[in-house]
Amino acid sequence: MDYPVVDTTSTDARFKFQVAAEPGGGGILRCFGCGSCVAACPVKKHEAAYDPRRFIKLVLLGLRDEVLAGPEIWYCATCYECQEVCPMDVRFAEAVSAVKNLAVREGHLPPAMSAQQDLLKEHGRLYEVGEFENEKRTGLGLPEVAERPDQIRTLLEK
Ligand code: SF4
Ligand code: SF4
Repeated sequence: MDYPVVDTTSTDARFKFQVAAEPGGGGILRCFGCGSCVAACPVKKHEAAYDPRRFIKLVLLGLRDEVLAGPEIWYCATCYECQEVCPMDVRFAEAVSAVKNLAVREGHLPPAMSAQQDLLKEHGRLYEVGEFENEKRTGLGLPEVAERPDQIRTLLEK
């Protein structure tokens, strides 16, 4: 097995504490690397590059840029399987959200997420419901849906 070489001159020892200080991020300091989360993760079964234990290790080692700018954090499906099996109550799904919040604050929102954000701002939901969709709804005996993006915009701005 090849082990990655970590260049300690480019690590950030404060990074793990920064993640731990975010809501939901505190459990990451309790991980002892047993790998139960890896065995339970459905995303790992389909995407070999995704590995919750490795991800935690990167945070603990202080590989800030690799974690925040990399695509892996966005692969998590937030299914909570890892949290069910973790013996240390790390609450990995919540820790990933903490890291995502940091990534967004530092300008690492991926283009697909940015596009979703634009749709939410414009329509208040991820899909436009216009005249065509409302006509179909009426044909099915459903009430028309109006777009009310104002509240979503306020949330996104905050
Ligand atoms: S199951 Fe928990 S303690 Fe074990 S590697 Fe995963 S996060 Fe760490
Ligand atoms: S919450 Fe994320 S990391 Fe945990 S099992 Fe589900 S997909 Fe995997």
